[in-house]
Amino acid sequence: MARFRTCAKAPCGAAFYDTSRSGSRVWHDVKTCGNVVNLRASRSRQKKS
Ligand SMILES: [Zn+2]
Repeated sequence: MARFRTCAKAPCGAAFYDTSRSGSRVWHDVKTCGNVVNLRASRSRQKKS
């Protein structure tokens, strides 16, 4: 199920459809707004808490 969202990166704000199963996508394009480094950082943070 696709969800209509807006990019979480403040200066971007582009609209996109979240087609991930978990519906946890927050950037319109991971390559430009949510790079791999950011993704890993947020994941390790979630593991701790
Ligand atoms: Zn974006």
